[in-house]
Amino acid sequence: MILRCLFALWCFLLVDGATANECEVSLVVLGAGQDAGAPQIGNPADPGWQDPELRLTATALALVDHENDKRYLFEATPHLTAQLQRLDSMAPSAAPGLGIDGIFITHAHIGHYAGLMFLGREAAGAREVPVWVMPRLANYLRRNGPWSQLVALENIQITELAQGTTKTLAGGITVTPQLVPHRDEFSETVAFVVRTNGQSFLFVPDIDSWDTWEEDYDTALEDVIASVDYAFLDATFFDDNELPGRDMSKIPHPRVAATMQRLQHLPDAARSRVHFIHYNHSNPIRDPASAATQHVLDRGFSIAREGDQLCLAVQN
Ligand SMILES: [Zn+2]
Ligand SMILES: [Zn+2]
Repeated sequence: MILRCLFALWCFLLVDGATANECEVSLVVLGAGQDAGAPQIGNPADPGWQDPELRLTATALALVDHENDKRYLFEATPHLTAQLQRLDSMAPSAAPGLGIDGIFITHAHIGHYAGLMFLGREAAGAREVPVWVMPRLANYLRRNGPWSQLVALENIQITELAQGTTKTLAGGITVTPQLVPHRDEFSETVAFVVRTNGQSFLFVPDIDSWDTWEEDYDTALEDVIASVDYAFLDATFFDDNELPGRDMSKIPHPRVAATMQRLQHLPDAARSRVHFIHYNHSNPIRDPASAATQHVLDRGFSIAREGDQLCLAVQN
């Protein structure tokens, strides 16, 4: 169930079409683009220059625990400033400061971690914002500027995660990292499985291949989808015709068309859990009015859009 609740601390939803209940834990899509968003640098013909509706910020999710007044981010993107402003307008925090109770980061590519820079002394000068990352990424942040300065000045406080080991947050929300195959120059790359006392989601914005995940990491996409209520999946490219003049066989990422093909045999309920995210500026699904978007929806899948809000747990 998707709610688009603007300017509201509490979101409401109908249960069995009759009773309104307060949402206890909600998920907000803060961005759905690839790392560099859209329009990208050096693309004067991008329609987003003319139409702000077609602009994309980099992929990020926020998890809002209304019950305990906690807000967690998944990724710190280069668009963090605008994304936090959106979150403040949708689900403001009563806490002093930024109201960020923790940031989970999948890997060290610019769209996923570079927004940490806004926590430093040139911007927010934040105090001890918890940052949860895998060991290689932790090491990278501690040993390389400008990130090391965030650690030294205690703008951020790093806690290391471990593969497959569940981290439990206030209110019993759990976050479990799962390694995925990706271009790991500076860090490992993970997906996150998040469970509340209501619903759960998988977040895998960047992966080289579903087959490699299955063969080398013993994780079948279909099994993970079966174990969660929502699955935010890497949709960087739509198909192999997308980058004229480039040999796309050399470029990883499962194509949206291929992912749909792989999952087409699943029942309607399972396919509807899939929300494609992290789309490149060249991917036609970035335009809600495109034929590609309609094709994805017709096949029973969903596309994550900035501002989407899901209620994961309802107050009893
Ligand atoms: Zn990315
Ligand atoms: Zn990446």
